[in-house]
Amino acid sequence: MQHTRARQAQDVPQRYSTDVLVVGGGFAGVCAAVSAAETGANVILLERNGRGGGNFTNSFVGTFCGYHVVEEEEYKLICSGLGEQVFSHLIKENALGRYITYAKVPVIPFDIPVLTRFLDQMLLEAKVKVLFRQLVSDVIVEDNRVTSVIVTDKSGQYSIACKTVIDCSGDGDVAFMAGVPMLTDGGHIQFPSMIFQMGGLNVEEASKTTKKELAEYQRQAVESGDFDLPRKDGTVSLLPRQGMAQANMGRIKIGDRPIDVFNLEELSYGEMEGRRQSFMYLEFLKKYVPGYENAYICGLPNTVGIRESRRMRGQYVLTKEDFLAAQKFEDGIACSSWPVEFHKAGALTEWAYLPEGEYIEVPMRSLIPEEIENLLFAGRCLSADQTSHAAVRCGPVCMAMGEAAGIAAAELSKSDGKVQDIDGVKIREAMKARGAHFRKDESKTK
Ligand SMILES: Cc1cc2nc3c(=O)[nH]c(=O)nc-3n(C[C@H](O)[C@H](O)[C@H](O)COP(=O)(O)OP(=O)(O)OC[C@H]3O[C@@H](n4cnc5c(N)ncnc54)[C@H](O)[C@@H]3O)c2cc1C
Repeated sequence: MQHTRARQAQDVPQRYSTDVLVVGGGFAGVCAAVSAAETGANVILLERNGRGGGNFTNSFVGTFCGYHVVEEEEYKLICSGLGEQVFSHLIKENALGRYITYAKVPVIPFDIPVLTRFLDQMLLEAKVKVLFRQLVSDVIVEDNRVTSVIVTDKSGQYSIACKTVIDCSGDGDVAFMAGVPMLTDGGHIQFPSMIFQMGGLNVEEASKTTKKELAEYQRQAVESGDFDLPRKDGTVSLLPRQGMAQANMGRIKIGDRPIDVFNLEELSYGEMEGRRQSFMYLEFLKKYVPGYENAYICGLPNTVGIRESRRMRGQYVLTKEDFLAAQKFEDGIACSSWPVEFHKAGALTEWAYLPEGEYIEVPMRSLIPEEIENLLFAGRCLSADQTSHAAVRCGPVCMAMGEAAGIAAAELSKSDGKVQDIDGVKIREAMKARGAHFRKDESKTK
């Protein structure tokens, strides 16, 4: 495939050349960059913001989901690796909050600044070359390979040549620009939401309200005409720091549809609408819910949280049927116990749970495109239908996907091989050799 953009990009000066280029520094990107560097590759990580963590640090998603199952009344990790290092660090720093249980699957609040600093440390220790505030705006594709990406910053444009590129942009920007087809099943994307942080709570009182009671208050507030809440089952999680909580309550829409996150005007509207909704939900909480009387907003995120945008087509498309069967794969490289959490039209979220103790695996093939030979994608833009995506998009799963992609990319950059020839079983083994464990292997040995 000779990409037309290649011709437009020829005049752009080349500033760097690297084995592995990771685009996007969310959970998937940080773990991809670290594991690639630890596997012996030279690695550049490009991130358009000034910090790693993606949704978790820029959009204030302050809770881990899908990382544990419950067995004999105990929470057990289902897949470890770099994610477990993050988790252990947060435990060590006393930066985890009280576990909240949704149908026996825990949601674990954590302290975002401690996480942000630790991601810096991981990247520095692995000797990843980190370039913040750099936007990948184009790619050069020659003979089915992404030979360079074009980066735009305040000095203009430059290119970075790479042997292998991992798209961890969440939005699948690199894959899309390289011509990888998107999956178009489903209707609208899931609704984005803006999460906000509050201080000043009476924690003892606030923690008495259950999720069900909070939803009932929201229903009453709408039915009484007091507040025009776009979502009636929004949640609040108490954070590890005294008197603080995060609210994941709103829904960013135009009429009955979600905003188009690739339309600049709609996205800009969405940022302001998210802030408007945050203050509206604060007023609702103060008026209706005990313990919030003196609450105030102490943090509005940098960006509205985007649950779904482009899902890229890979060698394998994870499906709703896989989710329902709690499917495991020989080349499974990430695990998720989270239910399908679908933010659809209407004021309520749709949930579908796995049986207690169960989880689904993501196969390596869901990170590998069918044609482009030196590109992988990991994280939110993986190859999954809309339903299974709604379950496997959680942070810990993205970390494991990133780790797997990093190992694969580093190995590949030692040869002129193609991603299509990656043996996912070997990548799973390589993850285990680095210290990761998978629950499927554990149960086999019993
Ligand atoms: C409202 C909301 C609530 C959620 N709640 C939870 C929860 O409670 N628990 C949980 O585990 N998960 C939750 N999730 C899901 C989770 O946050 C995401 O799916 C996950 O963070 C995706 O990780 P990622 O690394 O794939 O992508 P992202 O976190 O989106 O990171 C992508 C990164 O790429 C960068 N980037 C994008 N394009 C470019 C470009 N062209 N050039 C350079 N950089 C680029 C971005 O700045 C970003 O840092 C929630 C998501 C949302 C939106």
